[in-house]
Amino acid sequence: MPSTMCPPNSRSSSSASSMAAGGADQAHRQPLCNLRTRRRRASRATLILKETYGSPRLSNKDDPLDELVFILLSQMTTGPSYERVYERLKAALPDWQLLLETPLSVISELIADAGLVAQRTNRLVTIAQTLAGDFGTVSLTLLTEMSDQDAFAYLTTLPGVGPKSAKCVMMYSLGREVLPVDTHTARLAFRLGLVASASAPAIDKELEQIVPPPLRYDFHVNAVAHGRVVCRAVRPRCGECALRPACPSGQRAPAPAR
Ligand code: SF4
Repeated sequence: MPSTMCPPNSRSSSSASSMAAGGADQAHRQPLCNLRTRRRRASRATLILKETYGSPRLSNKDDPLDELVFILLSQMTTGPSYERVYERLKAALPDWQLLLETPLSVISELIADAGLVAQRTNRLVTIAQTLAGDFGTVSLTLLTEMSDQDAFAYLTTLPGVGPKSAKCVMMYSLGREVLPVDTHTARLAFRLGLVASASAPAIDKELEQIVPPPLRYDFHVNAVAHGRVVCRAVRPRCGECALRPACPSGQRAPAPAR
Protein backbone atom coordinates (compact mmCIF):
# COMPACT_ATOMS: atom_id res chain seq x y z
CA MET A 1 0.00 0.00 0.00
CA PRO A 2 1.54 3.36 -0.97
CA SER A 3 2.07 5.87 1.83
CA THR A 4 -0.64 8.51 2.23
CA MET A 5 1.86 11.07 3.52
CA CYS A 6 3.60 13.54 1.19
CA PRO A 7 7.38 13.21 1.04
CA PRO A 8 8.94 16.70 1.38
CA ASN A 9 9.75 16.88 -2.34
CA SER A 10 6.14 16.06 -3.32
CA ARG A 11 4.54 18.93 -1.41
CA SER A 12 2.47 21.30 -3.49
CA SER A 13 3.49 24.93 -3.52
CA SER A 14 -0.17 25.70 -2.78
CA SER A 15 -0.23 23.68 0.43
CA ALA A 16 -0.54 26.80 2.56
CA SER A 17 -4.00 27.32 1.11
CA SER A 18 -5.15 24.11 2.76
CA MET A 19 -5.67 26.31 5.83
CA ALA A 20 -8.78 27.60 4.06
CA ALA A 21 -10.99 24.79 5.40
CA GLY A 22 -13.59 25.62 7.99
CA GLY A 23 -16.05 24.12 10.46
CA ALA A 24 -15.85 20.45 11.30
CA ASP A 25 -13.18 19.93 8.66
CA GLN A 26 -10.60 22.07 10.44
CA ALA A 27 -9.43 18.80 11.98
CA HIS A 28 -8.66 17.38 8.50
CA ARG A 29 -6.26 20.14 7.41
CA GLN A 30 -3.07 18.81 5.91
CA PRO A 31 -0.33 19.76 3.47
CA LEU A 32 -1.22 19.03 -0.14
CA CYS A 33 0.97 16.68 -2.14
CA ASN A 34 1.95 17.59 -5.67
CA LEU A 35 -0.49 17.17 -8.55
CA ARG A 36 0.88 13.80 -9.67
CA THR A 37 0.58 12.26 -6.21
CA ARG A 38 -2.95 13.61 -5.76
CA ARG A 39 -4.03 12.28 -9.15
CA ARG A 40 -2.71 8.86 -8.25
CA ARG A 41 -4.54 8.97 -4.93
CA ALA A 42 -7.78 10.09 -6.59
CA SER A 43 -7.60 7.23 -9.10
CA ARG A 44 -6.97 4.73 -6.35
CA ALA A 45 -9.80 6.07 -4.21
CA THR A 46 -12.17 6.00 -7.21
CA LEU A 47 -11.36 2.35 -7.83
CA ILE A 48 -11.95 1.41 -4.19
CA LEU A 49 -15.22 3.37 -4.06
CA LYS A 50 -16.47 1.76 -7.26
CA GLU A 51 -15.74 -1.69 -5.89
CA THR A 52 -17.60 -0.75 -2.71
CA TYR A 53 -20.69 1.00 -4.11
CA GLY A 54 -20.82 -0.01 -7.76
CA SER A 55 -21.48 3.52 -9.09
CA PRO A 56 -25.22 3.79 -8.25
CA ARG A 57 -27.50 5.86 -10.49
CA LEU A 58 -28.88 7.87 -7.48
CA SER A 59 -32.40 8.25 -9.00
CA ASN A 60 -31.09 10.49 -11.78
CA LYS A 61 -32.84 10.81 -15.14
CA ASP A 62 -31.88 10.06 -18.74
CA ASP A 63 -33.62 13.09 -20.25
CA PRO A 64 -31.80 16.39 -19.55
CA LEU A 65 -34.94 18.40 -18.77
CA ASP A 66 -36.30 15.63 -16.54
CA GLU A 67 -32.97 15.77 -14.70
CA LEU A 68 -33.05 19.55 -14.43
CA VAL A 69 -36.59 19.54 -13.00
CA PHE A 70 -35.55 16.78 -10.59
CA ILE A 71 -32.56 18.86 -9.45
CA LEU A 72 -34.63 22.04 -9.05
CA LEU A 73 -37.07 20.15 -6.83
CA SER A 74 -34.24 18.60 -4.81
CA GLN A 75 -32.48 21.85 -3.89
CA MET A 76 -32.71 22.52 -0.16
CA THR A 77 -35.02 19.60 0.54
CA THR A 78 -34.72 15.94 1.54
CA GLY A 79 -34.57 12.79 -0.61
CA PRO A 80 -37.92 11.03 -0.04
CA SER A 81 -39.76 14.35 -0.28
CA TYR A 82 -38.36 15.56 -3.60
CA GLU A 83 -38.47 12.15 -5.25
CA ARG A 84 -42.15 11.85 -4.37
CA VAL A 85 -42.85 15.40 -5.57
CA TYR A 86 -41.03 14.80 -8.85
CA GLU A 87 -43.05 11.63 -9.53
CA ARG A 88 -46.30 13.47 -8.82
CA LEU A 89 -45.39 16.40 -11.07
CA LYS A 90 -44.22 14.14 -13.90
CA ALA A 91 -47.40 12.05 -13.68
CA ALA A 92 -49.53 15.20 -13.95
CA LEU A 93 -47.38 16.87 -16.64
CA PRO A 94 -45.81 14.03 -18.67
CA ASP A 95 -44.71 16.58 -21.30
CA TRP A 96 -42.95 19.66 -19.87
CA GLN A 97 -44.64 21.72 -22.58
CA LEU A 98 -47.64 21.56 -20.25
CA LEU A 99 -45.80 23.91 -17.86
CA LEU A 100 -46.78 26.67 -20.30
CA GLU A 101 -50.49 25.88 -20.13
CA THR A 102 -51.01 24.80 -16.53
CA PRO A 103 -52.20 27.42 -14.02
CA LEU A 104 -49.50 28.43 -11.53
CA SER A 105 -51.80 27.45 -8.67
CA VAL A 106 -52.01 23.88 -9.98
CA ILE A 107 -48.23 23.60 -10.37
CA SER A 108 -47.76 25.01 -6.88
CA GLU A 109 -50.16 22.48 -5.44
CA LEU A 110 -48.39 19.61 -7.18
CA ILE A 111 -44.99 20.58 -5.72
CA ALA A 112 -46.20 21.90 -2.36
CA ASP A 113 -44.40 19.20 -0.34
CA ALA A 114 -40.99 20.34 -1.64
CA GLY A 115 -41.24 23.76 0.04
CA LEU A 116 -40.18 27.13 -1.42
CA VAL A 117 -43.25 26.70 -3.58
CA ALA A 118 -43.51 30.16 -5.16
CA GLN A 119 -39.80 30.22 -6.05
CA ARG A 120 -39.78 26.72 -7.53
CA THR A 121 -43.01 27.29 -9.48
CA ASN A 122 -41.64 30.52 -10.87
CA ARG A 123 -38.34 28.89 -11.90
CA LEU A 124 -40.01 25.93 -13.60
CA VAL A 125 -42.34 28.14 -15.63
CA THR A 126 -39.60 30.65 -16.50
CA ILE A 127 -37.34 27.82 -17.70
CA ALA A 128 -40.16 26.37 -19.82
CA GLN A 129 -40.79 29.80 -21.37
CA THR A 130 -37.06 30.32 -22.00
CA LEU A 131 -36.63 26.94 -23.71
CA ALA A 132 -39.73 27.51 -25.83
CA GLY A 133 -38.31 30.87 -26.91
CA ASP A 134 -34.76 29.61 -27.55
CA PHE A 135 -35.44 26.20 -29.09
CA GLY A 136 -39.09 26.30 -30.13
CA THR A 137 -39.84 23.44 -27.74
CA VAL A 138 -39.74 22.86 -23.99
CA SER A 139 -36.82 20.47 -24.14
CA LEU A 140 -33.06 20.40 -23.56
CA THR A 141 -32.29 17.73 -26.13
CA LEU A 142 -30.61 20.29 -28.43
CA LEU A 143 -27.86 20.48 -25.82
CA THR A 144 -26.67 17.13 -27.18
CA GLU A 145 -25.35 19.07 -30.20
CA MET A 146 -23.45 21.63 -28.11
CA SER A 147 -19.87 21.48 -26.85
CA ASP A 148 -19.32 21.06 -23.11
CA GLN A 149 -18.50 24.76 -22.79
CA ASP A 150 -21.62 25.88 -24.67
CA ALA A 151 -23.95 23.48 -22.85
CA PHE A 152 -22.55 24.61 -19.49
CA ALA A 153 -22.82 28.28 -20.45
CA TYR A 154 -26.43 27.85 -21.60
CA LEU A 155 -27.57 25.88 -18.57
CA THR A 156 -26.09 28.39 -16.12
CA THR A 157 -28.15 31.19 -17.67
CA LEU A 158 -31.35 29.46 -16.49
CA PRO A 159 -32.83 30.56 -13.15
CA GLY A 160 -31.71 28.47 -10.18
CA VAL A 161 -29.06 26.63 -12.20
CA GLY A 162 -25.53 27.03 -10.84
CA PRO A 163 -22.34 25.19 -11.85
CA LYS A 164 -23.14 22.07 -9.80
CA SER A 165 -26.65 21.69 -11.21
CA ALA A 166 -25.47 22.35 -14.76
CA LYS A 167 -22.75 19.72 -14.44
CA CYS A 168 -25.21 17.19 -12.96
CA VAL A 169 -27.45 17.58 -16.01
CA MET A 170 -24.42 17.27 -18.29
CA MET A 171 -23.01 14.24 -16.49
CA TYR A 172 -26.17 12.25 -15.81
CA SER A 173 -28.21 13.02 -18.91
CA LEU A 174 -25.76 14.10 -21.62
CA GLY A 175 -22.94 11.70 -20.78
CA ARG A 176 -20.34 14.47 -20.49
CA GLU A 177 -17.17 13.84 -18.49
CA VAL A 178 -17.58 16.75 -16.08
CA LEU A 179 -17.38 16.63 -12.29
CA PRO A 180 -20.20 18.17 -10.24
CA VAL A 181 -19.02 19.08 -6.75
CA ASP A 182 -21.60 18.83 -3.99
CA THR A 183 -20.96 18.86 -0.25
CA HIS A 184 -20.21 15.10 -0.09
CA THR A 185 -17.76 15.23 -2.99
CA ALA A 186 -16.02 18.31 -1.62
CA ARG A 187 -15.74 16.89 1.89
CA LEU A 188 -14.32 13.59 0.69
CA ALA A 189 -11.87 15.26 -1.72
CA PHE A 190 -10.63 17.50 1.07
CA ARG A 191 -10.24 14.70 3.61
CA LEU A 192 -8.38 12.61 1.05
CA GLY A 193 -5.93 15.49 0.66
CA LEU A 194 -6.85 16.08 -3.00
CA VAL A 195 -7.83 19.75 -2.68
CA ALA A 196 -7.11 22.69 -0.43
CA SER A 197 -10.63 23.37 0.84
CA ALA A 198 -13.85 21.56 1.71
CA SER A 199 -15.92 24.36 0.17
CA ALA A 200 -17.67 23.05 -2.96
CA PRO A 201 -17.59 26.26 -5.06
CA ALA A 202 -13.92 26.89 -4.22
CA ILE A 203 -12.66 23.51 -5.47
CA ASP A 204 -14.84 23.11 -8.56
CA LYS A 205 -12.05 23.64 -11.11
CA GLU A 206 -9.23 22.31 -8.93
CA LEU A 207 -10.86 18.90 -8.53
CA GLU A 208 -11.36 18.52 -12.29
CA GLN A 209 -7.58 18.83 -12.63
CA ILE A 210 -7.12 15.94 -10.20
CA VAL A 211 -9.80 13.46 -11.28
CA PRO A 212 -9.32 12.41 -14.93
CA PRO A 213 -12.39 12.65 -17.23
CA PRO A 214 -13.14 8.90 -17.49
CA LEU A 215 -13.23 8.59 -13.68
CA ARG A 216 -15.38 11.63 -12.90
CA TYR A 217 -18.78 9.92 -12.96
CA ASP A 218 -17.57 7.11 -10.70
CA PHE A 219 -15.85 9.53 -8.34
CA HIS A 220 -18.93 11.74 -7.97
CA VAL A 221 -21.68 9.16 -7.50
CA ASN A 222 -19.65 6.97 -5.18
CA ALA A 223 -18.46 9.98 -3.16
CA VAL A 224 -22.12 10.89 -2.60
CA ALA A 225 -22.91 7.33 -1.52
CA HIS A 226 -19.84 7.25 0.74
CA GLY A 227 -20.50 10.68 2.22
CA ARG A 228 -24.04 9.75 3.20
CA VAL A 229 -23.15 6.71 5.27
CA VAL A 230 -19.41 6.59 6.07
CA CYS A 231 -17.49 9.82 5.44
CA ARG A 232 -20.18 11.87 7.17
CA ALA A 233 -19.73 15.55 7.95
CA VAL A 234 -19.72 14.86 11.68
CA ARG A 235 -18.12 11.75 13.17
CA PRO A 236 -16.90 10.04 9.98
CA ARG A 237 -16.74 6.28 10.39
CA CYS A 238 -13.04 5.96 9.55
CA GLY A 239 -12.75 2.68 11.43
CA GLU A 240 -14.99 0.92 8.91
CA CYS A 241 -13.97 2.88 5.80
CA ALA A 242 -12.55 1.06 2.77
CA LEU A 243 -10.58 4.20 1.89
CA ARG A 244 -8.76 4.43 5.19
CA PRO A 245 -5.48 2.90 3.97
CA ALA A 246 -5.36 5.56 1.23
CA CYS A 247 -6.71 8.46 3.30
CA PRO A 248 -4.41 10.84 5.20
CA SER A 249 -7.30 12.01 7.42
CA GLY A 250 -8.31 8.45 8.21
CA GLN A 251 -4.71 7.56 9.03
CA ARG A 252 -4.70 10.23 11.72
CA ALA A 253 -8.03 9.07 13.20
CA PRO A 254 -7.93 6.74 16.22
CA ALA A 255 -7.45 3.08 15.24
CA PRO A 256 -10.67 1.02 15.22
CA ALA A 257 -11.34 -0.97 18.41
CA ARG A 258 -10.56 -4.69 18.07
S1 SF4 B 1 -10.92 7.26 6.32
FE1 SF4 B 1 -12.35 8.67 7.38
S2 SF4 B 1 -11.90 10.71 6.54
FE2 SF4 B 1 -10.96 9.19 5.15
S3 SF4 B 1 -12.51 8.82 3.58
FE3 SF4 B 1 -12.81 7.27 5.14
S4 SF4 B 1 -14.36 8.11 6.56
FE4 SF4 B 1 -13.55 9.80 5.30
